[in-house]
Amino acid sequence: MAKKHGEVSQHMFAQYKIDAITNGVHARTWTGKVFQELFDRHIPGWREDSFMLRYGLSLPAKEIWHAHQQTKGLLLERVNRETNTGMKPDVFTLGFARRAAAYKRADLLFHDLERLKVIAAKVGKFQVVYAGKAHPQDQEGKELIQRICQAAEALRGSVKVVYLANYDWELGQLMTAGVDVWLNTPNPPMEASGTSGMKAALNGVPSLSILDGWWIEGCIEGTTGWAIDSTAPAEGDRTPHDADSLYDKLEKIVMPLYYRNRDGWLNVMRHAIALNGSFFNTQRMILQYVLKAYFE
Ligand SMILES: *Cc1c(COP(=O)(O)O)cnc(C)c1O
Repeated sequence: MAKKHGEVSQHMFAQYKIDAITNGVHARTWTGKVFQELFDRHIPGWREDSFMLRYGLSLPAKEIWHAHQQTKGLLLERVNRETNTGMKPDVFTLGFARRAAAYKRADLLFHDLERLKVIAAKVGKFQVVYAGKAHPQDQEGKELIQRICQAAEALRGSVKVVYLANYDWELGQLMTAGVDVWLNTPNPPMEASGTSGMKAALNGVPSLSILDGWWIEGCIEGTTGWAIDSTAPAEGDRTPHDADSLYDKLEKIVMPLYYRNRDGWLNVMRHAIALNGSFFNTQRMILQYVLKAYFE
């Protein structure tokens, strides 16, 4: 869980004192092979002590870029083998993968297909890799996947979108490490934590996400990634507002940085590793359990 989930739980169980220790992911497990080798060269000791990843701030720009492009190549190789879509490593790539539960709003990106086509034509090409299974009994989840596949069809010739089958740990690792930006668009405050964005951070992949779950703590705007503004009025359907904010960020900030300011982009990648990879891991989580919970 994350701090935010602690607050939500506190409202539900007012008679208990609830403190929250934010989740983490296992650093060595979720760092891809090429980034493991990069860290071995420049951050000795990171395998034994995840806090060392703070020194990710001094990773050489060229080597981060090279490691990321290699990692992206591994993902796109699988994408192209399974879908025959010819995705290219020099095209800005968004990733989204999680259980296809309705509150996760996997289809928020496709709220306005025309706007997406305009962004692709005006700012630069982009492609989207999706994965995630629906529970066999979850009709809503299955329909969600169908809607994404319909959107992919409607965007043909403008934006490449694939939905990969068999989302498992291995594909989860490949995707969180291999895309350029990790997208998360839950309906707040439904996200207890969210761990896939933490996996991405370990690989220098910034998140573009609704401020919910762990991202409330992990997002430093423009430094570790970007927030989708979720301050819409509490009543009524917030989807149009959240989708607009997502499009604005992509069009005006995230994609221009990717295509026109490589040094700026690499700086965000470094901070994702140094500020979020070094913190949102299981080592810190277990230490906090020891410090805060067991000896109270
Ligand atoms: C990380 C992971 C999840 C959990 O992702 P969340 O962002 O916490 O929803 C689920 N399935 C697989 C295969 C994963 O690798």
